[in-house]
Amino acid sequence: MFVRQLLAFSSVSLLILQSLSGQNASPTPPVERSNPWPAAAASPAQPQITFNSVHVDGHYIALTFDDGPHKTLTPKLLDLLAAHHMKATFFVVGQCVVDNPDILKRAVREGHEIANHSWSHPNLGKMSDEAARREVQKTDDAIFAAIGKRPTLMRPPYGSITARQKRWLHDDFGYRIIIWDVDPLDWKRPGPSVVTSRILKETHAGSIVLAHDIHPPTLEAMPATFDQLDRKGFKSVTVTELLAMATPEPPKPKASPRPAAIPAASPGAIYVPPVTTSTPGG
Ligand SMILES: [Zn+2]
Repeated sequence: MFVRQLLAFSSVSLLILQSLSGQNASPTPPVERSNPWPAAAASPAQPQITFNSVHVDGHYIALTFDDGPHKTLTPKLLDLLAAHHMKATFFVVGQCVVDNPDILKRAVREGHEIANHSWSHPNLGKMSDEAARREVQKTDDAIFAAIGKRPTLMRPPYGSITARQKRWLHDDFGYRIIIWDVDPLDWKRPGPSVVTSRILKETHAGSIVLAHDIHPPTLEAMPATFDQLDRKGFKSVTVTELLAMATPEPPKPKASPRPAAIPAASPGAIYVPPVTTSTPGG
């Protein structure tokens, strides 16, 4: 009881002190801050900002290709996607966009989505907010100049991003942050058949698949990958379309004092890769 009274008294004193200092102190320059409570924990009412995968009904997935557009490989990929009736999302690097605006125009015409992957592919999580903001803004502008539309999705290179950066990417740019749950590590060039088998093994309904349209073996892997995804009944849509299909996850079973039997397979399980500053993918 005494502690509570003491706390209440302290709070009142603090308020009085604050209001006094507010009256007497000389005005301080305004600090640019879009969210006055950045440390506040996200409540369930707040919209989700970051996605590794999406819970959907039906065999929908999102194929995503990073680090382009590439002068020759991206058009080849667009041919393959068209032949297989697959839609993809391209997380583009701004400095490649200015060299290949027509490729982006074609991608949009053919129903694909263009999203922001920074200007020069740095590790944003290790940069100052100002420098990171310039990377994002320049690319946002380059995409707008190429296709006349601003992107609404952002993928930080290497999946590296701080909580504060996520906040302003969402609040100031309106971005949702897209990571991935399927990573074939194609940038290590393990061979086309390995890329295909990794994607096939890990992909489930609602997956966001990461690959890179700047590596020739990745392109070589795509015909077989698309064929087999198709055979398994998967349909690739853009990330924005996949997000729009999100359905609530079924409630998790309550903890029971008796040990529950472990199912042989758990199709609902979602692999969430750790978002660290050294994730090699993306
Ligand atoms: Zn990347």
